[in-house]
Amino acid sequence: MHIFRLLKRFIPPYKWQLILNLLFNIFSTILSLFSFAAIIPVLQMLFGLESMQSEYISITSTMSMQQLIDAAKNNMYCFLYELVTLRGQQYVLMLLGVWLVSLTGLKCLTAWLANFFMVPIRTGVLRDLRAQLYRKVVGLPIGFFTEERKGDVMSRMTNDVGEVEASIMSTLDMLFKDPIMIMVYLITLFCISWQLTLFVLLLLPLAGWLIGRIGRTLKRASTKGQEQNAEILTQIDETLGGLRVVKAFNAENKLIERFMVLINATRATFNRINRRYYLAHPVSEFLGTSLIAILLWYGGSLILSENASIDAATFIYYLVIFYSIINPAKDLSKATYGIRKGLASLERIDKILNTQSNIKEIENPKKVVDFESLIRYEDVSFAYQADRPVLQGINLEIKKGQTVALVGQSGSGKTTLADLLPRFYDVNGGRITIDGIDIRDLKTFDLRSLMGNVNQEAILFNDTFYNNITFGVESATMEEVRQAARIANADDFIMATPMQYETTIGDRGSRLSGGQRQRISIARAILKNPPILILDEATSALDTESEKLVQEALENLMKERTTLVVAHRLSTIRNADVICVMHEGRIVERGTHEQLLAQNGYYKRLVDMQQDK
Ligand code: ADP
Ligand code: MG
Repeated sequence: MHIFRLLKRFIPPYKWQLILNLLFNIFSTILSLFSFAAIIPVLQMLFGLESMQSEYISITSTMSMQQLIDAAKNNMYCFLYELVTLRGQQYVLMLLGVWLVSLTGLKCLTAWLANFFMVPIRTGVLRDLRAQLYRKVVGLPIGFFTEERKGDVMSRMTNDVGEVEASIMSTLDMLFKDPIMIMVYLITLFCISWQLTLFVLLLLPLAGWLIGRIGRTLKRASTKGQEQNAEILTQIDETLGGLRVVKAFNAENKLIERFMVLINATRATFNRINRRYYLAHPVSEFLGTSLIAILLWYGGSLILSENASIDAATFIYYLVIFYSIINPAKDLSKATYGIRKGLASLERIDKILNTQSNIKEIENPKKVVDFESLIRYEDVSFAYQADRPVLQGINLEIKKGQTVALVGQSGSGKTTLADLLPRFYDVNGGRITIDGIDIRDLKTFDLRSLMGNVNQEAILFNDTFYNNITFGVESATMEEVRQAARIANADDFIMATPMQYETTIGDRGSRLSGGQRQRISIARAILKNPPILILDEATSALDTESEKLVQEALENLMKERTTLVVAHRLSTIRNADVICVMHEGRIVERGTHEQLLAQNGYYKRLVDMQQDK
């Protein structure tokens, strides 16, 4: 069954808590049996039933189990009878009351202790699941996260984890407690009257079948519900990201309508799920009461018949215990519902956990410490989706110390070509080598240590300037950080903020201008001090004024480094050693600025277009 696989997967680190939990559950169940037992003599006294006098029976080792129980019962009665004659009935009733209260007190204490040890299991499993997911997500390649997938992944990490917590973890205690209670009570019932109990057991499978039928469709509906939850998150994410455009185009109502359609459908799904879920309780309550009614009839006729095998007071005790089974049985059926609901979410979580990264690390990677001489793209081809090639027949050499620029229309594959170098994606054909070694034979960690990236969108984290700049290095002194910031033209504006390098920059650097953000990310690259630089339209999102500052910072950065630069504005790469013009996934022209102008081809046209502006 799923549930055992589930337990085997999550519980092992918490086996001590689990053992303690089970132990206290057993204690508490047994204590409740003994506390209820007080009602037998109480009833017998109140109804003045005879059977309360006889001789003590001495207990010997040759007795069978049944005889032992009978003897113990008999001796208990004898003792009570003596007490009654000695001290009076009221005194004994009070004693029995004290017995009931103190045993119930103990029972409640052990029940709480059982939960006390349950709680760290529940919270621990949740934490482990979150940790596993986060580790996995951070490790997955960039290609995994397309825009529509981001919302889905987020939903799986929040909604689905929440669902697992709510439905599986919250019912875990039921899973460990209820079967124990049911077993202990059933055994007791058998000891009291096996005829009655056998009769009851014949009726139980029927009830179980009924309850199982209702739960069957629950899992399917839950999967759908969670998919819709994911879609909601995607839409919210998209809306928040695009609010500026939404307002500019007066598209609020359009978005609201789209969102309404989605949330109404989601509501319908969850109506169905929850209605079915709430069916569990009344159905099992109804079944339980029906069972009691049948029991009353059958047990009653057993008592009334000749040479009854059970007396009335014991029968009432029997009913009390039987009624105590109903609650755990009900909870158990609720737990199985909850688990069904939660398993759907767990499956969705597992989809992420089981995703294989398509960027494979080889067994014994070659060592690199530094970049020596040459990067080569050898007949490289690449496609995001099969049968839609994005790059074809790319041959490119980047010698140490050179600056190689990629230019071309947007969509021609420049970013893609640059992304292949740090293995954000793997080539489909051909290969890329660094100093003659295929980059797939290197450890990705080592490979990426050789490179620094500055992209069009500076990616910053909601942290201090200092931490954002030292992001890629293990340790750096304040002086080194300031030096890097100075080269990146960032020191001045950082020092002007209230807490200087300890100022927090806000969510994704929202409190900074585009140019400032970009200069921080350049400072980060300078501090990392990699031999190879990849600049992807680092200045194209900026206005001319800040572009100048950033361009200056970039030129400081590019000194004595090997650089692959993707440029939007051609004026910024005029001095590059080689300029490659890309068109529809191919390099169609290459050479220096002057050579390309003289060719009077694509490059010339691009330059002319920009000069018209
Ligand atoms: P450039 O940087 O020159 O503007 P890109 O390398 O970003 O061009 O894109 C090249 C082509 O690849 C475009 O046709 C684009 O639609 C496609 N593309 C880019 N990224 C992805 C992606 N993650 N999934 C699928 N197709 C993509
Ligand atoms: Mg691009």
